[in-house]
Amino acid sequence: GPAPESNTDVQAWLDANKDGFGHFINGKFTGTEGRDTIAVTNPANGLVLANVAHGTQADVDAAVKAARAAFGTWSALPGHERAKYLYAIARHIQKRERFFSVLETMDNGKPIRETRDIDIPLVARHFYHHAGWAEMVETEFEGFSPVGVCGQVIPWNFPLLMLAWKIAPALAAGNTVVLKPAELTPLTAVAFAEICHEVGLPAGVVNIVHGDGATGAAICGHEDVDKVAFTGSTEVGRIIREQIAGSEKKLSLELGGKSPFIVFEDADIDGAVEGVVDAIWFNQGEVCCAGSRILVQEGIAARFYDKLRKRMETLRVGDPLDKTIDIGALVSAGQLERVTSLVEQGKAEGGTLWQAPVKLPTKGNFFAPGFFTDVDPVSTVCEVEIFGPVATATTFRTPDEAIALANNTKYGLAASVWSENINLALDAAARVKAGVVWINSTNLLDAGAGFGGYRESGFGREGGREGLYEYLAADWEKRLPLARDE
Ligand code: NAD
Repeated sequence: GPAPESNTDVQAWLDANKDGFGHFINGKFTGTEGRDTIAVTNPANGLVLANVAHGTQADVDAAVKAARAAFGTWSALPGHERAKYLYAIARHIQKRERFFSVLETMDNGKPIRETRDIDIPLVARHFYHHAGWAEMVETEFEGFSPVGVCGQVIPWNFPLLMLAWKIAPALAAGNTVVLKPAELTPLTAVAFAEICHEVGLPAGVVNIVHGDGATGAAICGHEDVDKVAFTGSTEVGRIIREQIAGSEKKLSLELGGKSPFIVFEDADIDGAVEGVVDAIWFNQGEVCCAGSRILVQEGIAARFYDKLRKRMETLRVGDPLDKTIDIGALVSAGQLERVTSLVEQGKAEGGTLWQAPVKLPTKGNFFAPGFFTDVDPVSTVCEVEIFGPVATATTFRTPDEAIALANNTKYGLAASVWSENINLALDAAARVKAGVVWINSTNLLDAGAGFGGYRESGFGREGGREGLYEYLAADWEKRLPLARDE
């Protein structure tokens, strides 16, 4: 096959920063001197890529102070002035698209095809879209004011895209931010901070503090943070909710999911099989809205499983920098262990595991794609988020049964419905309790469409008009029903 994507520029950048990456606070990189560091590894081979500073309470205090100091001037800028910076950030990301794609792939383990064609283009799109909102926010949300200083904590599955989802709307509405990337994947956030510097973003508007859960807790609990935005596990979402309960802080949470993927017997079967590929084998299944629970109507189940197995066997697992690879490495040894043990449990509970007979690389956190049949809808693998490239498949007889199964979960993030009968599809879509429902498609994300969950998948929306609400002061929000009645 073709040679792997070259990592020369990225390697040169890493080599130039052998001392490690510090935080980005008040427009400057702190360096790592006198700080503890966290080693960042490449999940595809286990080699250390870099070290990043481990943020302390003092680092968080300094970042919040810088964000507070910048807030007055930044929020008072005319929206079109803020828009200029967001447009400039978008253009700079596009200019360094290849660099960002390679760096993200090395840091996270996801295939270069995905970082190049999905993650990084969506990041640029998100900043372009919100540059538009910066210009419009004054007229579209009359009398609005921003929330203030936003504390933002993000996960490792879409590192730069989650950063964009957090920072772009916050800045568009005139807020300033302190963001903590996941400790497993902090490197594209460092390169993003370089871009903030390059475009001359005023000091303190964006602050990046590296670190683990303790650093995240210091940000969320900081008394001068007005709004907390978190994406990650439901467990940590619950901890944060308890931590800030009783404070005046605004909160949005994007948590886990166990999204149903419903295939009715009149569906375009080949299309639905391709849908499964995008639903659960995209990003190694490390996707909060992954279609991880396949529900197939009984009459087509055997044919559907057969086609799915054949398609699964064509997937290529391996070096994520290789442009022909479909499935890269899981983010960490810990994640590989978690996925492995859940899959073992699924087998122990009587499930039949169909797994692609691929030869996995000897190093790195690789796991072959698969799916379970013969599983009880109330077994562990059908209920718990695996967050790996393994789905469960169960059958149903009637549309009512499909909806009941689909809603039999503590989550409510996303769903997809496959049918050639538009009445059936729309009816099912309306009855599935999920923040996003796709019809004859899956995992489609757009900067202009609100994304978010119900129940244990969290609350609040990101993207589009609804996403902006999260970054407007609470006094504006109170006027929302009035504004809608008009
Ligand atoms: P996590 O929730 O532990 O970590 C997410 C982020 O929160 C990281 O930046 C982490 O440093 C930070 N954090 C951890 N504890 C914190 C605390 N007490 N206060 C503030 N911030 C804190 O998620 P994880 O350990 O990376 O993954 C565990 C599981 O979470 C996965 O297996 C998956 O099921 C789920 N997950 C969901 C998403 C999603 O997008 N919904 C993303 C990643 C992981």
